[in-house]
Amino acid sequence: MKFLKELSLESPLSSVSTGKDWKTAKTTNLLKPFSPVDGSHYLEIPLATSEQYTEVVATAKDAFIYWRSLPAPRRGEIVRQIGEKVRLYKQPLGHLISYETGKPLQEGLGEVQEMIDVCDFAVGQSRMLYGMTTVSERPQHKLYEQYHPLGIVGVITAFNFPLAVYGWNTMLAAICGDVVIWKPSSKVPGTAIALQKIIGEVCLENNLPEGIFNLIIGNRDEVGNSMLEDTSIPLISFTGSVASGKHAAEVVSRRLGRTILELGGNNAIIIAPSADLKIAIPAVVFGAVGTTGQRCTTTRRLIIHDSIYDTVVKKLRTAYESLNIGNPLNEINHIGPLIDLQSVHDYREAVEAITAQDGEIIYGGNVLFGPNYESGCYVEPTLAAVQPNCLIVQEETFAPILYLLRYSGSVDEAIAIQNGVRQGLSSSIFTTDMRESEMFLSTVGSDCGIANVNIGTSGAEIGGAFGGEKETGGGRESGSDSWKGYMRRQTVTVNYGSELPLAQGINFDLS
Ligand code: NAD
Repeated sequence: MKFLKELSLESPLSSVSTGKDWKTAKTTNLLKPFSPVDGSHYLEIPLATSEQYTEVVATAKDAFIYWRSLPAPRRGEIVRQIGEKVRLYKQPLGHLISYETGKPLQEGLGEVQEMIDVCDFAVGQSRMLYGMTTVSERPQHKLYEQYHPLGIVGVITAFNFPLAVYGWNTMLAAICGDVVIWKPSSKVPGTAIALQKIIGEVCLENNLPEGIFNLIIGNRDEVGNSMLEDTSIPLISFTGSVASGKHAAEVVSRRLGRTILELGGNNAIIIAPSADLKIAIPAVVFGAVGTTGQRCTTTRRLIIHDSIYDTVVKKLRTAYESLNIGNPLNEINHIGPLIDLQSVHDYREAVEAITAQDGEIIYGGNVLFGPNYESGCYVEPTLAAVQPNCLIVQEETFAPILYLLRYSGSVDEAIAIQNGVRQGLSSSIFTTDMRESEMFLSTVGSDCGIANVNIGTSGAEIGGAFGGEKETGGGRESGSDSWKGYMRRQTVTVNYGSELPLAQGINFDLS
């Protein structure tokens, strides 16, 4: 495949890099990732060993000594060059992401653009690592806060955004003066290796020491858990499912390390009686089927007012009938495959649960077979009418299943249904009634990290802080002031007088 060649993804590959250098394999244990597009095993990558993990950590520790002392705008300059370099490789990277994850090519290219935008964002931020200054209660004293680099940041990423999530974390961590060890999902190692090679070019051109940007691809025990348990990694930024995020949080907090958690969502859109369906329907369809329902912000629940329920469902059916499912690299297709056969199994189980729990499949519900679907990972996008108390609705099934729920009262009822799940990532309301939208955004409104009006749940601009509440984990990996999460905060008091007044009026007389 042309894009593999353009990204230098040719054998022999290595799974461990500390920047420019790639380490020789220490094992014959090979990772052979599976493309859900055509079912082929397109790469062979020797997995990292625990010995290699230890070596990477030692290199990262040394690099931190150098990197933390480089002025932040100069670190920003390195990130600027990374963004420029990623721009040059946008096309092959977009193709590779599409091929590895199964997301449509346009979404693959969009993900590369997000990484580029995050680099630009981080470059600007590199000149704005500001603390606040306040007034001291004591005469001739100065009181302020400042931020310092934290150390090694462990970045563990999910399969569904193999480039962007790394970018959110690493570009911010880098301008903050941290060094990063990245463990990507073993389902999508090609994108990680390709990006590391691109970053390696920047490291070479700037003669940077090894250990600032590190990649290690290995299994959960030898690499994943070692990172979680490692006291030399003060911060683990973990993006993944609620179940594995809980494990990560437990292990890291046992050693009183810090985490940024970006976990699963169960996002809803409320369609109020006054909604403008011309914009609501495309937002729902894109939110529900984009990335084959495998975004953390995917629309999973639609809470529709009774008065327009039938109209909305009819329009959705018509829209779903017009969707093309197939090879995501072919731009006529709107929907590609699920990531793997396990996900197909989960999709099937959810479809069975819907009917077992008194729900009704209104559209779809089938796995696709035939010459265009040979990998076995293509499924129909599905619409299912369910009751709010249906148990399967509480779960984040990572597939294009949209649950249709009715409400008949005021917007408060819809908000209660929306908030009635364990996760709290993204939410939205379609309404032209200002009272409803303001209620939705008020303290008694949506309990999610992201609340939108007249725009869907899926995706987010990089400027705003991204993340969710409740079981979604509470982390904010990127946007706004999330850079503070990658630094250590220090409160400073300077006495420039010749007296020693104590705080709170305490008098400590030694005479
Ligand atoms: P996953 O939890 O299976 O894996 C995520 C990452 O964690 C992978 O790199 C995996 O190898 C690693 N991991 C798993 N168990 C581990 C352990 N014991 N020790 C160390 N590492 C471990 O998730 P996935 O299937 O790759 O991704 C889908 C999930 O991620 C969904 O739930 C989705 O909502 C969530 N997600 C959330 C966000 C967000 O910003 N909130 C973004 C993307 C994905």
